[in-house]
Amino acid sequence: MSEGYIKIIGAGLAGCEAAWQAARLGVKVLLYEMKPKKFSPAHHSENFAELVCSNSLRSNQTSNAVGLLKEELRALGSLIMEAAYATEVPAGSALAVNREDFSKYITEKIKSHPNITVIEQEVEELDLSSDTVTVVAAGPLCSEALSKSISNITGGDELHFFDAAAPIVDFATVNTNIAFFASRYGKGDPKDYLNCPMTKEEYDRFYNALISAEVATLKEFDKNSQEGLTVFEGCMPVEVMATRGYDTLRFGPMKPVGLPLPTTGEDAFATVQLRRENREGTMYNIVGFQTHLTFGAQKEVFRLIPGLENAEFFRYGVMHRNTYLNSPKILTPEYSMREHPGIFFAGQITGVEGYVESTSSGYVAGINAARRHLGKDSVIFPKETEIGALAHYVSEGGVSKDFQPMNANFGIIAPLGRKVKGGKKYRNEAYAERALEIIKAYAIENV
Ligand SMILES: Cc1cc2nc3c(=O)[nH]c(=O)nc-3n(C[C@H](O)[C@H](O)[C@H](O)COP(=O)(O)OP(=O)(O)OC[C@H]3O[C@@H](n4cnc5c(N)ncnc54)[C@H](O)[C@@H]3O)c2cc1C
Repeated sequence: MSEGYIKIIGAGLAGCEAAWQAARLGVKVLLYEMKPKKFSPAHHSENFAELVCSNSLRSNQTSNAVGLLKEELRALGSLIMEAAYATEVPAGSALAVNREDFSKYITEKIKSHPNITVIEQEVEELDLSSDTVTVVAAGPLCSEALSKSISNITGGDELHFFDAAAPIVDFATVNTNIAFFASRYGKGDPKDYLNCPMTKEEYDRFYNALISAEVATLKEFDKNSQEGLTVFEGCMPVEVMATRGYDTLRFGPMKPVGLPLPTTGEDAFATVQLRRENREGTMYNIVGFQTHLTFGAQKEVFRLIPGLENAEFFRYGVMHRNTYLNSPKILTPEYSMREHPGIFFAGQITGVEGYVESTSSGYVAGINAARRHLGKDSVIFPKETEIGALAHYVSEGGVSKDFQPMNANFGIIAPLGRKVKGGKKYRNEAYAERALEIIKAYAIENV
């Protein structure tokens, strides 16, 4: 028999959203938070939903995928969005907040909700013997004891501790007059790879820009992280590899052999390969280009690759400490475990990336955990919405066997199935219109 409450572990963005939604559905919540007794290396405030780095929740425009996700969450009654708009500071077309006021607003709301009881305690173990519905929202810096317990349940290889991801490009922005489809030595489906060939002059220009580009600062705890360092060596950033010698990249990720140019049949001086990231072929990742360059430098340097001169990036490359599950093997689109349906995960630990994305998984996990507790059917948002597209991406993965965290973008949303005139902005607006209609219908049904 299930007890009279559900448990939520972690009062970050995802945990607070999940707790609020469950409480709103009339379910009693025990919310466990290890602060202020114990802090992760990036958390410093005693308040909940702490923004550990930037104070920006990124774009506010619905023609931008994260802007659309925010609007969906707002329409669905998200507490985090309510707090963000209540504590907004001017930031042009982005939504930025006063971080102290933001966290304080959420903490007060959570602490004063009659259905929520906060317990200041680190949860060290995930208890499978109990029937209590549980949401794990312990974040990218989940405590060591709980990480170990999760790892024991999921199997050691299914919990990652470092995110070394290559940038992902919007296929619609690749210049296919230059980039060509082909698998190396003609093996496999040619559509799996796009190739951007370079002459020696193009390589020189790219190489010199790469080795002098601006690198993002490594956080102290990333430098010290044992797990981090191990993967760091095995997954060398492309700019570090370049400093090992002029030809190192040409014998590594930019190897041209087996990829003859369709025009001459000769190999190029160097070739950058992009691998298909999803079944629809809307997203391609730049193979071997995990990087620690700043986002601005990535845009500038990677656009020097022939064929990518106008490329738009769905996701930039990142390298940082990040605890996340191999979710396509483990989770469903309601963010519950396939093998233990009463255990949900929410936030960055599911493989969504970013503040708003973490909030969105907290929303879905929160309402479904409450519904599971109440014996009701689950709610699965469709791929036509950004909130649903993220949940499906996380639970299904792309075509690559290595699951990498994903932020909100239009590459994962269900295609429109029709052409929209006027360019990308109009196409994105059509996505947004379709998504918000679906969300509105859901919100009306469920108030
Ligand atoms: C250094 C760093 C910088 C980042 N910068 C950005 C950025 O600028 N923009 C952006 O969009 N995203 C950024 N991210 C990603 C960011 O972490 C997430 O977007 C977001 O904070 C994740 O929300 P969450 O709820 O999953 O985790 P968090 O917000 O981290 O919340 C997890 C909570 O769980 C608690 N906890 C952990 N373990 C336990 C336990 N065992 N028992 C009880 N409580 C526990 C923690 O104390 C914390 O309060 C950054 C991440 C890191 C690590």
